[in-house]
Amino acid sequence: MKYVSGNRRKSSLSAGSPRCETGRLVSQSGEFDLIKKLRSKCADLSPRVLKGIGDDAAAIDCPAGKTLITSDMMLEGVHFDLSYSSFHQLGYKILAVNISDIFAMGGTPEYFLLDVAVPGDCDVRSVRELYSGVMKIAKKFGISVVGGDTSSSKQGVVLAGTLLGRAGSVITRSGARRGDNIFVTGTLGDSAMGLRLLRKKWKGRMPAGSGKLVKKHLMPEPAALKRTSGVTAMIDVSDGLLIDLSHICDESKVGAIVDLGKMPVSRELARVSANIGEDPMDFALRGGEDYVLLFTSPQKTRPGAVRIGEISKKGRFLSDKGKRVPFKAEGYEHFK
Ligand code: ADP
Ligand code: MG
Repeated sequence: MKYVSGNRRKSSLSAGSPRCETGRLVSQSGEFDLIKKLRSKCADLSPRVLKGIGDDAAAIDCPAGKTLITSDMMLEGVHFDLSYSSFHQLGYKILAVNISDIFAMGGTPEYFLLDVAVPGDCDVRSVRELYSGVMKIAKKFGISVVGGDTSSSKQGVVLAGTLLGRAGSVITRSGARRGDNIFVTGTLGDSAMGLRLLRKKWKGRMPAGSGKLVKKHLMPEPAALKRTSGVTAMIDVSDGLLIDLSHICDESKVGAIVDLGKMPVSRELARVSANIGEDPMDFALRGGEDYVLLFTSPQKTRPGAVRIGEISKKGRFLSDKGKRVPFKAEGYEHFK
């Protein structure tokens, strides 16, 4: 009964829902009954949605302009582990990571579709919890959940989200120019340290500050850039700063110098790193899933963002108290 709601390994971190071993399983409920339940949870729709869940396709009345479309998957055993992640948190995160991609293009998220595959021994309540997580963040950003697909899975939970959004002007990875400044909108490395804490089995108390880091991993909070004028290139930090900055360099055909002294590291990351004998900069540079925005601009300062370096003609360097060392695109990469 691996997929019964709330039936997770006991951990000091998982606040979790109550055990529910008598809950109805999806194999008893069936696909159509399950969709009916989801439909009622997703009833909060924009007036532009002509048809949401319940037909062969969703119908949306779109005004003229630019549409953004993005998709992101989360697989049990690859992206998450049900021993430390609740279904509510998974629902929240699958939409959060898609929102982050729309923000990274300078857009506003609007319509979401979620494909879900679960094993037959998953209980209906878990799937409802998944959608309570989805709806929690959907409401925050005024997103309508308009459809998806539901399937049984032979192994593990699979989620695939597709998000549509709109943009006045689309910001790509390819517009960075020599002399532009490099900015990030939040602290780096927290989520990767949160994951490390979740994976490690702690005897007794977790290091002080752990809770905040763990929350950043389980339920990231994407935030849009308030003003995008003057932004030349943008990406969200999902695979780690060095990889994502390298994507900007590749697409823009430029180099970069990152000033290690300017890297925003949270108090919690600094404290926990010291406590467990790790280098916080390693997490900040190579740890993924920060879901903050990394962007370039000729402007010297930007409200709500920290300047961490400069775009150069070529080469990729870390600058530590004036000493330059080349960096490689190291971080998280599938198949490696
Ligand atoms: P079809 O067989 O025509 O593809 P489905 O039975 O798969 O139709 O889906 C029926 C309706 O339910 C569609 O509107 C679809 O978008 C919606 N739907 C199915 N699964 C989900 C899900 N996991 N989340 C949201 N909507 C869903
Ligand atoms: Mg279908």
